[in-house]
Amino acid sequence: MLSSPAMGHAPLLVVENLRVEFPRADAIVRAVQGLTLSIGHGEIVGLVGESGCGKSAAALGLLRLVPPPGRVSAGRVSLDGVELLSLPEKQLRRYRGAGLAYVPQEPGSALNPVLRVGSQIVDVIRAHRPVSRKAAWEEAVGALVRVGIPDAGRRVRDYPHQFSGGMKQRVLIALALAARPRVLLADEPTTALDVTVQAGVLDLLRSLIDGRELGGILLITHDLGVVAALCDRVLVMYAGRIVEQASVSDLFDDPRHPYTRALIASLPQPDARRERLPAIPGQVPDLGHLPAGCAFHPRCPLAEAQCRVEVPALQSRTNGRAVACLLEEEAVAGAAAPRSAE
Ligand code: SF4
Repeated sequence: MLSSPAMGHAPLLVVENLRVEFPRADAIVRAVQGLTLSIGHGEIVGLVGESGCGKSAAALGLLRLVPPPGRVSAGRVSLDGVELLSLPEKQLRRYRGAGLAYVPQEPGSALNPVLRVGSQIVDVIRAHRPVSRKAAWEEAVGALVRVGIPDAGRRVRDYPHQFSGGMKQRVLIALALAARPRVLLADEPTTALDVTVQAGVLDLLRSLIDGRELGGILLITHDLGVVAALCDRVLVMYAGRIVEQASVSDLFDDPRHPYTRALIASLPQPDARRERLPAIPGQVPDLGHLPAGCAFHPRCPLAEAQCRVEVPALQSRTNGRAVACLLEEEAVAGAAAPRSAE
């Protein structure tokens, strides 16, 4: 089942049944098990879940950049109608950057420490378009201006270590934009940034969509607060599978999967006077040794015998919603109040 883009948005990116796996000595790690989603023009879609649930593997799978021996074992990725995963490597390279651009986590390690940021942006521009070095250098200055770096004409000659964490994140976004991509895959773009810097980066991403510099964004994050601030729709991922998808307002107003409910319950509330926030008990399972049945059952307050046997399918609901839970009605009735991690 495809997640539906907002009304009036033709799909820009369509992903169907993407599977990513990593062979390990003792097991096959199934990091992504049948991811299906779409992004319409002008949409920001969030992919949210705890660390280790397969979100980053999904982003790398979309670009066929899964590090070996990992591999994309199945799936289709279509950008503006072009099927990417079946392209020969040389052709696919043209779409990496200019079609789908990936902004990795950790801006500190993603930038080359011994090259000026301007040179790094120039290299990206010239890898995708036949422009002179001088023209590319001017474009690099413009790219830094676009992402809100003050005094860009001077700072383009600086090295990565001369930028703060928030400014490095902006440089990474400028680097991704230099190839003029259609869709940005932003992997935890605000992790490790303080709250005000985080707000600036989120505003920047929204302005790139509103100004039509980008066709769409897939925002990968563990932070539902970031999703609430920026996204139009959201997919909740657990142990390699999508367990719920909805518009952001539907998800927060009426979460239906016990995992989503627990994630939302663990968000700080400005008006609440709790001393301790509820946490989800237990750990994300090892993706090489998933529990039988519903992978969430060891942590789910509603789990019953059938949950230990049957894998719940993602079932469509109205308004583009979908939920993968055998006991959805009980969860919605409120029985799935999260347990405190004590
Ligand atoms: Fe919980 Fe069962 Fe639903 Fe899984 S299927 S989320 S274990 S109630």
